Amino acid sequence: MMFGIVTGGAGFIGSHLVDALVERGDDVLVIDNLASGDEANLARHLEEGRIQFLEADLLDDGWQEQLRGADRVYHIAADPDVRGSVRTPAMMFANNVVATERVLEAMREQGVPEIAFTSTSTVYGEAAVIPTPEDYAPMEPISVYGASKLAGEALISAYCASFAMRAWVFRFANIIGERSNHGVIWDFVHKLRANPDELEILGDGRQTKSYLDVQSCVAAMLFAVTHANEAYNVFNIGSEDWVDVTTIADIVAGEMGLSTVQYRFTGGDRGWVGDVPKMQLAVDRLKALGWRPQTTSPESVRNAVRALLASV
Ligand code: NAD
Repeated sequence: MMFGIVTGGAGFIGSHLVDALVERGDDVLVIDNLASGDEANLARHLEEGRIQFLEADLLDDGWQEQLRGADRVYHIAADPDVRGSVRTPAMMFANNVVATERVLEAMREQGVPEIAFTSTSTVYGEAAVIPTPEDYAPMEPISVYGASKLAGEALISAYCASFAMRAWVFRFANIIGERSNHGVIWDFVHKLRANPDELEILGDGRQTKSYLDVQSCVAAMLFAVTHANEAYNVFNIGSEDWVDVTTIADIVAGEMGLSTVQYRFTGGDRGWVGDVPKMQLAVDRLKALGWRPQTTSPESVRNAVRALLASV
């Protein structure tokens, strides 16, 4: 039986990963400081005594010994707020770079051999090649968030080579679905609940990106850790198409039964400082192992809107 540690396991993607690990019978310890996560995301497993939960901040001490005996760390914990990273770059550095280094050190000290890491399409910056493959260069992030994740990747690569560890690094497109508490869909639903007549859309609405639902994302991660066995494995995870922001607004308004919403665009080709206006990832590397995305971007958006409307 596998024993996995999931940092950030009380968050959106982390809690879905915990669901999948429990489902396949793994032992799981979640470490989370509940900064943006919520114990309610794990309620069922906690009630059934199926997982252990440790409320701890990776920037503090005291959690490291808990890693002893683990087969793998799924290092999901991070500050995921791309948009906020321009206001709090030092916090982003602490939670995404320093925390990752501390996890790697704890793994080295406690003898944990494997790490799976959730990175992001933003490591590519404004890529000249779209769909962007994993070996695209030069990697020049334009957000502090993207830079912090690229730094995390670099540390993991070095630890693999230096200390005989194995890693799977996953660069995600936009991951959406049940339990998400940020991002464009969440934003639109809440704005339209507050004012069903008008919707403010950041940028010109033509930002076009790839979206994938969270269950497919988690399935892709677990597929990769089972099928790829290099010492250091890097995979893009996303759908094979994209959708623009105005179409997302149309889907959200349609699902809310609103047909007369006036859109008010803030203008410019991007929503915020550090926003990449066009993003789609090449997923051929994972497809070559036999994985296929099960949903398109518009389908993932519609599913996510329905899940959010059902929960709030
Ligand atoms: P999330 O905020 O729901 O999850 C992050 C979790 O980490 C939260 O539960 C939070 O409480 C915890 N955490 C943060 N800092 C911590 C610390 N110092 N110590 C302990 N726990 C801490 O966000 P998410 O969208 O589920 O993102 C999960 C991962 O996927 C992140 O690494 C993020 O960068 C990455 N990612 C997400 C997307 C996306 O579209 N959602 C895209 C690319 C990459």
